[in-house]
Amino acid sequence: MPGKSPITAFKLGFIFVLYCHTKGVLLSGFSQVLVIAACGCLLRMKPVIVVQGGAGRIMPERKKAYLLGVKQAALSGSKKLQQGGSVVDAVEEAVVVMENDPIFNAGCGSVLNEHGEVEMDAIIMDGKYLETGAVSAVRNIANPVKLARLVMEKTGHVLLTDRGASQFAKAMNIPEVPGESLITEKAILRWKKNKKPVDCEQALGTVGAVAVDSEGNVACATSSGGKTNKMLGRVGDTPCIGSGGYADNFSGAVSTTGNGETIMKVTLARLVLFHIEQGKSPREAAETALKYMLDRIQSKAGLIVVNNSGDYAAVFTTDHMSWAAVKDDQLHYGLSQGELHTCSISDVPL
Ligand code: ASP
Repeated sequence: MPGKSPITAFKLGFIFVLYCHTKGVLLSGFSQVLVIAACGCLLRMKPVIVVQGGAGRIMPERKKAYLLGVKQAALSGSKKLQQGGSVVDAVEEAVVVMENDPIFNAGCGSVLNEHGEVEMDAIIMDGKYLETGAVSAVRNIANPVKLARLVMEKTGHVLLTDRGASQFAKAMNIPEVPGESLITEKAILRWKKNKKPVDCEQALGTVGAVAVDSEGNVACATSSGGKTNKMLGRVGDTPCIGSGGYADNFSGAVSTTGNGETIMKVTLARLVLFHIEQGKSPREAAETALKYMLDRIQSKAGLIVVNNSGDYAAVFTTDHMSWAAVKDDQLHYGLSQGELHTCSISDVPL
């Protein structure tokens, strides 16, 4: 039986007690409480984590590395949850794993701006009280998502940029890394090939994660190097609340990927949650929002979404989006339209 949200699980226990009464089985007050509590604990959903590794068109020779990267990230995030970490810890962990993996356009592996430099964006959001932290155009740090979390937890602000973000990173003792250590051969080749900002098909590899725990708490995180040859100081959708991500315990959490300039126009992450609030499932909400974006501004994108009852979806209108999820001790993953692999987490062919 699939896991239930805490309230549903307790309700089922209550219904069972009523059923016993109708059948003439009288339970003492203490036994009734025990039965309801046991149902609440046993039927309760298990935490879920979903990650994405960017939407666009993935070259056949790179597919394996993308899939390996998202699977590792989903498993690391899931492990955090199993060890008692919060949903915020889990999405941060999953995104850090992908920022450290040079296949992705985030942290090491980020695409280069018009001057051949790395400038990165990131956001993290806690759905409990809508706490958010974000950074934009940051340089010389390995994990922008960690800095975004510090903005959320240690400042009264939501978004720090450029020089101010760097000063804050220093104040928080985040180690400075040489800019070159974040630059890969692939990023240099891409930069040389493109004379002007390119469309989202080529700016592939943004990373993100969403998670829900057994209490229905949700969180999201997204991190990106942005678009190849972007103008100096360009800020994408990733650090913009409601565009690159959004998390609200009342509905769910979303992380998006694609062309930032068009994602921002439809505030894609918030739009998906609006449809969940209207009663749609995560898949229906994601498909409705992505169709709106395609019809309204002819732009494709991808996203991952989880609702507060633990249902999730990974949906994209681009050719590909690498994604992976851990739910009920199973690892699910895919990359092309309709592709879905499932295996037990104890049996992962990494
Ligand atoms: N959304 C990112 C940006 O435009 C790029 C991507 O997701 O591929 O900055």
